[in-house]
Amino acid sequence: MNQSTIATECPKCGGKELGQGKHNGYAAMHPDNKLSFGSDVVYIICTECGFIIESYVKKPEKFKGTL
Ligand SMILES: [Zn+2]
Repeated sequence: MNQSTIATECPKCGGKELGQGKHNGYAAMHPDNKLSFGSDVVYIICTECGFIIESYVKKPEKFKGTL
């Protein structure tokens, strides 16, 4: 993953106070057709309005070959 743009403000409300959160444990994203430990899901969130600007899994390679 090669991200050239990093979100710095909310596209919805223009807020510039962004936060980062993550799902882990039981809320992890799991590969669909594999019995495998999942990957944490990371969120970039606007702390003004709660809009989720980005979400991604930390270990995308775990999902190769699931489709
Ligand atoms: Zn916002």
